[in-house]
Amino acid sequence: MARQQQVTRAIEDHSTAQDANLYLEQVNDQSGAAALYILDRSGETVASSNWNTPDSFVGEDYSFRPYFNQSLSGKEGFFFGIGVTTGRAGLFISHPISQHDTVIGVVVVKLELEEVEQNWQDAGETVFVADKDGVITLTSQGDWKYKTLSPLSTFDRARIENNRQYPGRELASLDVGKQLSKGSGIVAIDGQRYLFDSKPIKGSAWRIFYLTSMDQVTDRQGAVMLIAIIAGGMIILVILFLRERELKLASQREALEFARIQALNTRLEKEITEHRKTEEELRGTQNELVQAGKLAALGQMSAAIAHEINQPITAIRTFCASAKLMIERGKTEQLDQNINQISSLTERMGAITGQLKTFSRKSTGVLEPVDLKIALDNTLQLLKPQLQQEECTLERHEPDTPIVVHADLVRIEQICVNIIRNALDAMESSSPKRINIDLATNDTDVIMRITDTGPGMKEETLSLLFDPFFTTKDPGQGVGLGLSVTYGIVRDFGGSIKAYNTDTAGACFEVRLPLLKGKTS
Ligand code: ADP
Repeated sequence: MARQQQVTRAIEDHSTAQDANLYLEQVNDQSGAAALYILDRSGETVASSNWNTPDSFVGEDYSFRPYFNQSLSGKEGFFFGIGVTTGRAGLFISHPISQHDTVIGVVVVKLELEEVEQNWQDAGETVFVADKDGVITLTSQGDWKYKTLSPLSTFDRARIENNRQYPGRELASLDVGKQLSKGSGIVAIDGQRYLFDSKPIKGSAWRIFYLTSMDQVTDRQGAVMLIAIIAGGMIILVILFLRERELKLASQREALEFARIQALNTRLEKEITEHRKTEEELRGTQNELVQAGKLAALGQMSAAIAHEINQPITAIRTFCASAKLMIERGKTEQLDQNINQISSLTERMGAITGQLKTFSRKSTGVLEPVDLKIALDNTLQLLKPQLQQEECTLERHEPDTPIVVHADLVRIEQICVNIIRNALDAMESSSPKRINIDLATNDTDVIMRITDTGPGMKEETLSLLFDPFFTTKDPGQGVGLGLSVTYGIVRDFGGSIKAYNTDTAGACFEVRLPLLKGKTS
C-alpha cells in the first residue's frame, strides 16, 4: 500500500484524498481488518477506509501514538491500544511511506482481536495476553481486561497515559505478577487457584497465559487416579492370569514329566523282567554246560576207569575160580580169606563208581557250607587213575582246619576237576609232571592256587582263556568250555579267578572265594 500511487499522491496533495479513501475502503473490505488509513508527516489522517462512517479517522491527529513515531523514523510500528476515535481496542501495525528515500507518511492497519477472545470464551478456556507492562490486553475473562499483573510504577503509568494507550481505564492490579513471572506453576487470582503455563508471543513483547482451575485439576486428578486404580487392577488381573496360566502350564509339564517317568518305569520293569528271564535261561544253559563238560570228562576218563575197574574184575574172577576149586577140594578153611579179598575189591570198585555218581550228579543250585578241602579230596579221588596213568605227582599245602565257603559241593568239585584236568593235559609232554595245590586264607577269603610244571600259556591264550569255545587242543580233545564254565561258577559264589605263568614257566590258576565264617561242613 505504501507504494500505491493513490496513497503517495493523497499525501502530497490532500485534494486527491478521495481516490485513496476509496482504494483503502476496497482493500480493507477484502482483508477483513478493522481499519486501514494513512497519515502524513504531521500525524494527521489523510485518508481512511472508514471515511464515510461516523467514526471516520479522516482529519484525526495520531501523532501521539508511538507507532506513528516509529514508522516516521523508517521502522515498522506495533502497538496495542484503545482507539481514541472508536473507543474500541485494537492492534495497530504501521509502515513508513517513502519517496526518494524520504518518509513522507505512514500507513496503518488496525486489527480488532475481539474474535479471538470470543473463541476463547466459547471454548470455556481461561486465557489472557499481557503486554510488556503486564497489562492484560486480551482475555477470555471479561473482568480481567486492562487489569495489570503487578501494580504499575508512576513512570510507566505516565507513559501509558501519554500514549493514550488505554484511555479511561483504571489499570488496577491483580497483584499476581510475581507468581506468574516463573512461566508456569500455580497462581491464585481473585481467591481462585489456577494451574498455569505461559509462553512469549513471537514478534511481540506480549506473553500469553493459559490457566486451568485447580478444581478441574483436582477433578481430573480424581479421574486420573480412578483410571490409574482401574489400570492397576487390570494389570494385577493380567499378572494373576499369567501366573495362573504359568502354574497351569507348569502342572501340565509336571504331569507330562510324570507320565514320561511312569512310561520309563514301566519300560525299565519290562526290561528287568526280560533281564531276569535271560539270566535264568543263561543259568539253565550254564547248568547244561556243566553237565556237558562233566560228560566230556567222563568220556575221557572212561579208558582210565575201565582200566581201573578191569583190574579188580580180573582179580575177582581169579578169586572166584580159586574159591570154586577150594570148594571142590573141600579146602574151605581158606575160603574166608578169598571172600574177604573179593569183598575189598568190590568195595574199591564201589568207591570208583560212587565217585562217578557224585560227579555226574546235577547241581541242586542250593548254596550250603562246603569245606574246600573235602571238595578237593573228592576231586583227587576221582582223578586218581588219570594222575597215576600220567605219572604225575601231587603236592598239597593247606591249613589243618576246615576251609568253609558258601557254595555247592558238586560245582566246587567241577572247578577243581576242570583246572586239574587242564594241568594234566598241558603237561602231556613235560617232565617231571607235578601239580601243586595251595590253600591259604586271610580274614575274608580263601585263595586256592593250582600250579603245574607244564609249558605255561602264551600271551594270546592268556587273554582268551575264559572265553567260551576257546581251545588250543586238537578237535575231539577239547571244546573250550571248561574254563568259561569255571569262571561262571566262581563268579556265582562271589569269587574271582585269574591265571598267570609262574616263574618256573608252568601255569598257575588262582581261585579266590569268600570265606563263610563260623560254620563247618
Ligand atoms: P579245553 O580244555 O576244552 O580246551 P578250557 O576252557 O578248559 O577248554 O581251556 C582253554 C584253553 O586254555 C586250553 O585249550 C589251553 O590252551 C589253555 N589252558 C588251560 N589250562 C592250561 C594250563 N594249565 N597250561 C597251559 N594252558 C592251559
